[in-house]
Amino acid sequence: MQIVHCSGPSGEIKKTVLDPLSDGISSVELMRVSGSDLDVVNAARVSFGKWSDRFDERDQKLINFLMLHDHTSPFEHNQLSFRIKAPIFVARQWMRHRMNSYNEISYRYAKAPLEFYVPACWRGQDAENKQASAASFEDESLKKKYQDLIDHSVKAYNELLDAGVVRELARGVLPVTIYTQFMFTCNLHSLFHFLKLRSHEGAQWEIRQYAQALKELAEEYFPASFRAWHLKLKG
Ligand SMILES: Cc1cc2nc3c(=O)[nH]c(=O)nc-3n(C[C@H](O)[C@H](O)[C@H](O)COP(=O)(O)OP(=O)(O)OC[C@H]3O[C@@H](n4cnc5c(N)ncnc54)[C@H](O)[C@@H]3O)c2cc1C
Repeated sequence: MQIVHCSGPSGEIKKTVLDPLSDGISSVELMRVSGSDLDVVNAARVSFGKWSDRFDERDQKLINFLMLHDHTSPFEHNQLSFRIKAPIFVARQWMRHRMNSYNEISYRYAKAPLEFYVPACWRGQDAENKQASAASFEDESLKKKYQDLIDHSVKAYNELLDAGVVRELARGVLPVTIYTQFMFTCNLHSLFHFLKLRSHEGAQWEIRQYAQALKELAEEYFPASFRAWHLKLKG
């Protein structure tokens, strides 16, 4: 995964943009975070009318307990907003996760930027498991075929637009490997759910790279919650 460091809009904040597919086009950027591990424990302690201003060792134990016993609602009093650039076929999988908020670029309103994901190598289809890929392999002639089809569709797209066809119809010739951009806002409960499903080896390799990037960016803001999550995963 490539990492690009850049300044935030104010010039003060150091933002990190990850390139999960390492092609110089894909990106995951954490735009905004509200809440912290302390809000998780305070949400749990409100049941007893208690509140704390400082996170201590007992709080880690409480978070571990909440996580282990699926006491999930205390993990919802926070928000993380990401800006994502992903192939459309990844975005389609992503947006099946309904308990989040999304806004996406519209190729009705904007001309498609014509950036495409081309896999660095091919994965074979596993003979038994429909969700699994077999070993990867190189084949330059297949890569050429893939690229030729992209070039062909770009040509057709531009010709349709030049002939006066509306963008919402012209985009129909673009393949699902074209990049799209969207905002993704979630809370920690929903993020953990996404990470569990999309980091799993049954998920497609490409979306797994995005899940890894989300985790890398979010973890430093909620270290105690992530520690508890890792503990639970280990069983
Ligand atoms: C490896 C993999 C393969 C997949 N393959 C396919 C596929 O072939 N075809 C396909 O269509 N989808 C597929 N999916 C998508 C999958 O069915 C889910 O839609 C997706 O993972 C989102 O999960 P979710 O509904 O739990 O998440 P969210 O939509 O974020 O929902 C979170 C939770 O809220 C609750 N919830 C949300 N909506 C409802 C509701 N309407 N009723 C009751 N409870 C609700 C559920 O408890 C749910 O777990 C696949 C997912 C994975 C991970």
